[in-house]
Amino acid sequence: MTVRIGVIGTGMIGRDHTRRIAQVLAGAEITALSDYSTDAARKVQQDLVPAARVHDSGEDLIAAADVDAVLVCSTGATHEPYVLAAIAAGKPCFCEKPLATTAEGALRIVQAEVAHGSRLVQVGFMRRYDAGYRMLKRVVDNDIGTPLMVHAAHRNPTVPDSYGTPMAIHDTLIHEIDVLRWLLDDDYVSAQVVFPRRSSHAHAGLRDPQVVLLETAKGVRIDVEVFVNCRYGYDIQCQIVGEEGLANLPEPMTITLRKQAHLQNEILMDWKDRFIDSYDVELADFIKAAAQGTAAGPSSWDGYVAAITSDACVQAQDSGQIVPITLPDRPALYR
Ligand code: NAP
Repeated sequence: MTVRIGVIGTGMIGRDHTRRIAQVLAGAEITALSDYSTDAARKVQQDLVPAARVHDSGEDLIAAADVDAVLVCSTGATHEPYVLAAIAAGKPCFCEKPLATTAEGALRIVQAEVAHGSRLVQVGFMRRYDAGYRMLKRVVDNDIGTPLMVHAAHRNPTVPDSYGTPMAIHDTLIHEIDVLRWLLDDDYVSAQVVFPRRSSHAHAGLRDPQVVLLETAKGVRIDVEVFVNCRYGYDIQCQIVGEEGLANLPEPMTITLRKQAHLQNEILMDWKDRFIDSYDVELADFIKAAAQGTAAGPSSWDGYVAAITSDACVQAQDSGQIVPITLPDRPALYR
């Protein structure tokens, strides 16, 4: 079966996912596009998928008879209504992060999916599909004994002036929030944020860097440095310390160059290059499950937990206090 996919939101990531499905992956075709700006959708249609129809609204696209599954790639605040509409239509839905901009909104999606009775939603936490993180997970599960501590870092060379202090949580840390929970098979119980000396490269409204301290239900202590003006590159680090050993996330593969008395490895500058392969794998997983009328990978529940944890971290940024994180019981659908 060829899964007929409609894409809502044809900005940066929507265009890229459209290209991926049209040109790289098997088993699916793009039959519909929609964007707040119809011109933007038409441009993607002309450039990549001339046979696709451009719809006036995301709701029309979801209802269309030639759409079996939906990709929600519009701005974050619009995700919740589109995902709810896809669930109401019984159509598998891949939703870029965040699942919703509030924990209450994410919970409404969880409740709608539970009422539907089977999984329909995959959240775009692509790091779970990265080859390096998958290797790390195998080692954590099998080789280093009980995990005790995690030291991680998420560094960007620079950010625009529109990037404020809470975005370090909602847009940046959110990937660590999900992937560390998955690596450790654990849940968070508290969050704290501390601010080291401020970088002079941070714009006036931004506190950068910051260190997020998380504690898990099993007692693992996690520190994540978020530093979005580090200048030198896009650099993702993750080290897990266990009772029997220590495991590091592998560095991206690069040529080691010996030249003019120096030994050099390139460092990537753009996050899109760092995780490009994992976007392919996550969407291949979505297509495979959608062909069966269901969804796999990061779930609505994972999106909900990420939203609750993000809110606690932002509260911790503001208060300087240790903020408790409490989750309701996990519905059977997500166990
Ligand atoms: P973007 O370039 O701004 O694209 C978003 C598009 O959605 C824009 O064309 C926007 O139109 C359109 N839009 C806004 N409201 C809409 C609505 N109600 N219905 C349909 N379309 C609407 O943003 P982006 O960088 O692609 O990000 C989109 C989403 O993907 C965000 O949630 C972001 O967090 C997520 N994302 C995830 C990753 C990842 O690593 N997983 C990476 C990048 C982005 P206008 O410009 O006219 O408002």
